[in-house]
Amino acid sequence: MHGLMQDWPLTVDKILDHARNWHGDREIVSRSVEGPIVRTTYAEVHGRAKRLSSALKTLGVKPGDRCATLAWNTARHIEAWYGIMGIGAVCHTLNPRLFAEQLCYIINHAEDRVIFTDLTFLPVLLEHRAKMPTVKHVVVLTDEAHMDPAAYPGALCYETLIAAASPECVWGDFDENTAAALCYTSGTTGNPKGVLYSHRSNFIHTLVTMGKDVMGISATDTVLPVVPMFHANAWGLAFSCSAVGAKLVMPGQKLDGQSVYELLESEAVTFSAAVPTVWQMLLGHMRENKLGLSTLKRVVIGGSAVPEALVRAFRDDYGVSVTHAWGMTETSPLGTLATPSGKTMHLDDEAQLRFTLKQGRPPVGIELKLVDDAGERLPHDGTTFGRLMVKGPFVVGEYFKGDGGDILDDEGFFDTGDVATIDEHGFMQITDRAKDVIKSGGEWISTIEIENLAVGHPKAALAAVIGAAHPKWDERPVLLVKLQPGVESSKEEFLSFLEGKIAKWWTPDDVVFVDDIPLGATGKIDKKLIRERMKGYVLPTAKAKETA
Ligand code: AMP
Repeated sequence: MHGLMQDWPLTVDKILDHARNWHGDREIVSRSVEGPIVRTTYAEVHGRAKRLSSALKTLGVKPGDRCATLAWNTARHIEAWYGIMGIGAVCHTLNPRLFAEQLCYIINHAEDRVIFTDLTFLPVLLEHRAKMPTVKHVVVLTDEAHMDPAAYPGALCYETLIAAASPECVWGDFDENTAAALCYTSGTTGNPKGVLYSHRSNFIHTLVTMGKDVMGISATDTVLPVVPMFHANAWGLAFSCSAVGAKLVMPGQKLDGQSVYELLESEAVTFSAAVPTVWQMLLGHMRENKLGLSTLKRVVIGGSAVPEALVRAFRDDYGVSVTHAWGMTETSPLGTLATPSGKTMHLDDEAQLRFTLKQGRPPVGIELKLVDDAGERLPHDGTTFGRLMVKGPFVVGEYFKGDGGDILDDEGFFDTGDVATIDEHGFMQITDRAKDVIKSGGEWISTIEIENLAVGHPKAALAAVIGAAHPKWDERPVLLVKLQPGVESSKEEFLSFLEGKIAKWWTPDDVVFVDDIPLGATGKIDKKLIRERMKGYVLPTAKAKETA
C-alpha cells in the first residue's frame, strides 16, 4: 500500500524559491573577482538565476546538457548553479587548481557545452581552446566594463547575457532523480571519475546537513564558506544556507589568512568551513598581528585530518568550537561529523577532545561498516583497522559513464579507499588512505596519526609521513618536516617529541627536513608527488641492514 501524501519532487530549485519567499532580503556578500565587496540578496540572486536559465535555453541548452563552472565562491557562481540546475541541465564544477591536461580531460569526458568562468581563468581556457571541441560557449562571470575581447575572442559577458534574458522561466517540474550536478574526484590514482548527483540526493543531503549535530546552521547565522564550490560542492553550503536563510559571505579568490580574517570581522561571520591549511594560515596571521575574533563561534574542518594543535588554538585562544568532519566527493560530501553524543557530552574538555579529533559519527542517511580485505565485517572496538565502507541516498552508486565498473559490494556499500577504526561510541577515525598506510612486518602504521602529532611540534609548519622500502619489515615510516621559517631542528628533536605519544614500533626510522611539502588541488598533502620526489631515497636503517 502506498502512502497518500503529496508528490513534491525534491528538486533543488525549490530551495532557492524558499530562500526568495521567506528570506528574500537576507544578504549574500561577495569579495568579487574584480576587487570590490559586492552585496546582493536571495531575492535578487533568485531573479538573476531565472534570467540565466532563460539565457541558457536561448543558447540551446537542453535538459541533461552539462554546463561547467570554473569559478571562485561568489554570488554569481551561486546564480549559475541554480540557473543551470533549475532547468534540468547539469552543473559541472571544475577545479581550477588541476593541471590544464586534467581540466581538458574532464571537460571532454563530461562533454561540457558551456563554461562559466571567472576572468582569472580566461588565459588557461584560451590556451587550450582547441582541445575542448564540445564547448560551444564561454560565459565570463563579469560585467561589460571588465570584458576584454582579446582575452577570449567570442566569449559572452554574463551581465549582458542575463540583462537581455526573460525573468520568466519554469524551474523544476521534472523527476527528482534527474541529474543536477557533476563533480570529478581528485584522481590521485588513474583518471578522475565523475560523481553525478541527482536533485534528490542534493536535497536529502541538504536536509541532513542542516541538523544540529551536523552543520547546525540557522537563519541567524552568517556563514563564510571558504571551502570552494568546486571542492565537493562547498560541503553543501550553497544549498543549506539558502535552505535556512543564513547570510552568506563568499570569499572570491582570496583565501589567505589576512583576507579571510578581514571578512570574518567586517561581516560578523559566526560559522565557517574550510580545510586545515586555510585555518593554519588564518591562525598564523592572527598570531603575527595579535588579532582576536569577535563573532566567530564555530568552524567545520575537514578534507584532511585536523591537527590537535589547531583545535586547541581555536578553543583555548579564540573561544571557537571546532567540528571535525569527514567526507568525500562520492558522499556529497558529508559522511561523518565529530559532534558530541549522549555518551561523550558529559566528559570534561580534555576527554571530549579525544573524540573531537576523530572524524566522527554518521548522521541519519549514512550507513558505515568496516571490513577486512576479504570483505568480512570487523568489530567497532576503536582499535581494529579496516576498510571504511559507506551506503546511503547521497552516496555514489556508479561513476559517470560507468567508469570504474561496479563499485558497490554485495550489500550495496561503496569502498571509500580510507582505512579507519570505529569506537564503542560510534566515532569513526580515519587512520589512512588504503594506498598510503604503511605495512610494516604485516601490521599497519597510520601515517595520518604520526603527521598530526609531528605538526604539533612548535617548529613544524607541515609534516608528512610515507613508507620507505625496508628489507626486513617491507616498509618503515619516514617523517618529512617543513620547518617554520628561520628555525633549525634535528632528527633527534622530532623523534623525542613523538616518544611516548605513539607505539614504539611506529617511530619513524628517519626524519628528513624539506623546503616544500606539496599540496594537491584540494589542499591535501600530495603523497604521490612526495613519493616521486623521494624515489632514490634509502632508509638509513635499510642501508645499515645492507652493509651488515
Ligand atoms: P575529496 O573527494 O577530494 O574530498 O577527498 C576525499 C578524501 O579526503 C577522503 O576519502 C579522505 O581520504 C580524505 N578526508 C576527507 N576528510 C578527512 C578528514 N577529516 N580526515 C582525514 N581524511 C579526510
